[in-house]
Parts: sequence; structure tokens; C-alpha cells
Amino acid sequence: MKPNKYYRRRRGILRGRFNPRLLPNPHTILRRLWIIYGNTNNNGYWSLCCPFHKDSDFSLSLHHLDGNYFCHECGAKGNILDFYMEVTGKDFIKASTELGAWEISYDIYRYR
Ligand SMILES: [Zn+2]
Repeated sequence: MKPNKYYRRRRGILRGRFNPRLLPNPHTILRRLWIIYGNTNNNGYWSLCCPFHKDSDFSLSLHHLDGNYFCHECGAKGNILDFYMEVTGKDFIKASTELGAWEISYDIYRYR
């Protein structure tokens, strides 16, 4: 039997892509993590209790718009997704899926 186009099976292949534009703002992410923050300082940073070491004073600075953070005591630093991953212990794909920044597309033009 000659294979024709009806014998080609259409397969959906799950693919994902990280889209940083879909990340929620740092307010939303911190509220989701139940992290308390106050007002920003003059450079636009919040001072938080660092979740990565035992912190008694507010030694972690997190920017309120771009989400970059660094800790003055333990040296932890990164972006807001790193922060979320570190606090929740989730990997990149899981964390960005939870935050709604992982776009899933079905590649329907793959045939077998
Ligand atoms: Zn720290």
C-alpha cells in the first residue's frame, strides 16, 4: 500500500518557552510568597529579611521594578525568578509555569 497524506500522523509535540515579559511584577511575587516589605529607599530597593540565611535585620535589597536582589550579609543575588526558585525550591520550568511566564505551544507541523 502506498503511503499517502492520510497515513501521516499529526503529532502534537509539547514545547515551552520562557517569556520574561509575562512575569508578574515583584509586588505580586512577594505577596505570593508571603514576604513582607515596606517602602522603597531612594534607589528603589525594598529591604527584606533575607530568606536564605538566618536574618534578624533587613539585609536583603530587592528592586521594586526589575526584581534584582542582593543580600549584604550572605551574598545571595539574582533576579526575581531566581528569588522565587530559591524560596520555593522549584526548578526553572516549574517556577516560570507557576508565575505564568512559560508559554506552551503545540508544534503541529511535525509529522512522522
Ligand atoms: Zn542573606
